[in-house]
Amino acid sequence: MAKVRFAPSPTGYLHIGGARTALFNWMYAKSVGASFVLRIEDTDQQRSKKEFELEILDSMKWLGMEWDELYYQSQRFSLYREYAKKLLDEGKAYQENGAVLLKTIAQEIKLYDLIRGEIVFDTSNFVVRDEKGENLSGKDGTLLLKDEVLIKADGSPAYNFCCVIDDFLMEITCVIRGEDHISNTPKQILIYQALGIKPPKFAHLPLIMDEEGGRLSKRTGAVAVSDYRKQGFLPEAIMNYLMLLGWSPGGDQEMISMASAIKKFSIKKINKAAAAFSMDKLKWLNNQYIRQADTNRLVDLMVPFLKEKKYIQENFDRQAIKNSVDLFKGRMDTFLDFLDRADFAFIDDFKRDAEAVAKHLSVKRTKEFSVLAERFGRTEPFDVSSTEKAFRDVVAELKLEASDLVHPVRVALTGRAVGPSLFETIALLGKEKTVERLKKAFA
Ligand code: GLU
Repeated sequence: MAKVRFAPSPTGYLHIGGARTALFNWMYAKSVGASFVLRIEDTDQQRSKKEFELEILDSMKWLGMEWDELYYQSQRFSLYREYAKKLLDEGKAYQENGAVLLKTIAQEIKLYDLIRGEIVFDTSNFVVRDEKGENLSGKDGTLLLKDEVLIKADGSPAYNFCCVIDDFLMEITCVIRGEDHISNTPKQILIYQALGIKPPKFAHLPLIMDEEGGRLSKRTGAVAVSDYRKQGFLPEAIMNYLMLLGWSPGGDQEMISMASAIKKFSIKKINKAAAAFSMDKLKWLNNQYIRQADTNRLVDLMVPFLKEKKYIQENFDRQAIKNSVDLFKGRMDTFLDFLDRADFAFIDDFKRDAEAVAKHLSVKRTKEFSVLAERFGRTEPFDVSSTEKAFRDVVAELKLEASDLVHPVRVALTGRAVGPSLFETIALLGKEKTVERLKKAFA
């Protein structure tokens, strides 16, 4: 049975790169009906942290990548030692200064990578160099090769060794991981050889760069998946975006449901070339997914954000939130945009854009606003069409143009010169707040 694994080290949070590796493993598993193993590589007990491990598990669940099996390498030390002993007993490994090492045998190793094709490694390049960078030779005059540490002097197993033992014992059929691990692959193949076992297939994913071709930084997107969550990205938007980093459903299609992506997915179609991370594209996708999302679900997701901002308290009016979300649904890239733009709907000390205030509220329309406030106070029911009618009546009575009042009213009510339609905004705010803000506008 086909089986793949995602093997993060809990020495940091789950970042975009790790999540993309997880996703390609997961999509492969779903597309061929393979099992998906999550293996926490926590052999480095100094750098591995519980906090990172929990964030990784949590982010995996949030993204919807559930696993079939879960392992912790820290619980498997005795297995690794057992295999090291076997290699020692067979004379394939030796002990030096407390460490167990595997003798490197000079040879050409051919690897067929499912994405990159044939890669040839020459292990006679695994040379030992002195401080000056000169290659060292052994007693017989041949170059001294760097032997692979299996168990370190402190008794902890080394990454390449655990990886091989686990991929073997867990019956992994295909290793899909980042290109940064290509150089580890021949070392792992030497271990497979020594153990007399057949290596799995390998597929090394292209690197993810920023748009300028540099390393991903915090600014360009290398932030934890949990941070994207805190900024109000939807998991399906992140998953859709991640799959485009090195793979394409074909044509110009960018938005694709997970179900149809899985149907189309094939490792062979993954690009060799590095993928460029674009924050703008991720935001665009998130905007699209928010538009499509069920408003009730968005309200549920939004509530913790609104509470944290103190826009709502414990006993909040769900319908009011729903109305605001509905009005802003097509106008936000992330939930943070919503918090920023819809502040006026929740609190009275909403942000006032200085430029908009200067431009539209410098002419004191105290009289006009008080007539409007009085008329709105009598408008019943207080909805989009009735408020629009009341507004137009007042404008006509005062012999003004609608445009004379539209902007000033909008700025007085929302603090901004742009936003959703004015009458929808007024209906959302409700009679009481609208009247009060108009009365106080020039006070
Ligand atoms: N723990 C390694 C990492 O996080 C996994 C490497 C592998 O997939 O073999 O990079």
